Amino acid sequence: MRTPKVREVREALRSLFSKPYTIGYPFQPSVPPERFRGKPKFNDECIGCGACAQVCPARAIEVVDEVKDGKGTRTVTIHHDHCIFCGQCHRYCTVETGVVLTNDFETGTYDRTTATAVAEKELIICQECGGIVGTVDQVRWVADKLGTKAFGNMGLALMLSEDLGLVSKSTRDASRGLDRGDSVSVLCPKCRREVILYEQWGP
Ligand code: SF4
Ligand code: SF4
Repeated sequence: MRTPKVREVREALRSLFSKPYTIGYPFQPSVPPERFRGKPKFNDECIGCGACAQVCPARAIEVVDEVKDGKGTRTVTIHHDHCIFCGQCHRYCTVETGVVLTNDFETGTYDRTTATAVAEKELIICQECGGIVGTVDQVRWVADKLGTKAFGNMGLALMLSEDLGLVSKSTRDASRGLDRGDSVSVLCPKCRREVILYEQWGP
């Protein structure tokens, strides 16, 4: 039998009295490194624009718009069971921190439908055609970025004026058709263009 070398004996003795390199997870917590890419989650800063869904290579982010009786909600859902933790959603988020990857790596579940992160946003609906203008937070974010220049856009000016209490909430009878007075209605870009053409060229 081959006799152990002095170095091997020394290492064996050292390992007997030193702490193990491995940890007792799951009985002890496993703390990932600071820049670990774990389960993505939404922050309050999210404006519900849906850009993260466009760049997600795994198509793990779903955007669902529901419109009923002139009111609408957008639900942005990250499916952790499809996510590959690449970080593209965080990197290309419109507001930079609307979605972030956390240190949470525990994705195990008995019910895959619960492996989600969800952001719900109120939608702005066109008062003429019922089309989606955007989320309230998204339009506010654009207005905020533009500052006083936002008042150059009628849709943004209307929203800001409502916020400032300068005008009451805009209401409109959709059955009467577009006319000059609709320059102060909440409209999608297509209907807004029709009103501008009406103003310039008449009916
Ligand atoms: S703000 Fe960021 S996280 Fe929220 S929907 Fe847009 S891209 Fe996604
Ligand atoms: S980390 Fe990558 S795969 Fe996961 S939701 Fe974000 S973009 Fe999609």
